[in-house]
Amino acid sequence: MSLCIDCGCAFCCDGTLYSHAPLKEEDLPILANRFDVLLADRKSVDGKPEASFKQPCRLCVNDRCSVHEEKRPAICGDYRCKLLDSHGSGKVTTEEARTLVENVKELRDRLRPKLESIADAGCGASFLELTLSAVSQLEKEGAAERTTQSAELLLDIAMMRILLAKNFDSRLTKHTWLADKALQAMGDAAEPPAHSAPGPGK
Ligand code: SF4
Ligand code: SF4
Repeated sequence: MSLCIDCGCAFCCDGTLYSHAPLKEEDLPILANRFDVLLADRKSVDGKPEASFKQPCRLCVNDRCSVHEEKRPAICGDYRCKLLDSHGSGKVTTEEARTLVENVKELRDRLRPKLESIADAGCGASFLELTLSAVSQLEKEGAAERTTQSAELLLDIAMMRILLAKNFDSRLTKHTWLADKALQAMGDAAEPPAHSAPGPGK
């Protein structure tokens, strides 16, 4: 996994991609108190209760796994993102991967304070949780209250989701509907609110 270290990427550990990482039964004895373990608190894709630990992982330090050489949950060694596969098959060079990771970090770090200012996701929330909470707040806005700023924020969020889905995990495409929503919002923000039009007979 030297690409991860070469690129300074920790998106699969630091909450950028996920809010939780799944655990297997055999992981449980090695966890001690090192992970925030949530047992049967979540459902897997097939609807079964699933043990997981929260992200950002508390053992991710300065964009690196601080226990890389130690026994870790199985998912930590097994996980491979699309970027890792594309690099392994020669489709993406290390330089290209590094540039991509830097661009995603730049967008994420620019977005984070804006998301924090409107999200209702609690302390220690992952970037994914902040994103989903902020989107749900933005969705409550009607077209009349929509500002250009909030429409632009939706557009940035959509861009981020598309970047992550395209380059790291295709399953995240379920959030790319945000792009349509953002474009719709841009259109709404550009139009004068309906109540400003003169009413009949006035
Ligand atoms: S998201 Fe991919 S490149 Fe980044 S740390 Fe995880 S496996 Fe490595
Ligand atoms: S233990 Fe290491 S690899 Fe596993 S989630 Fe935490 S930082 Fe990532």
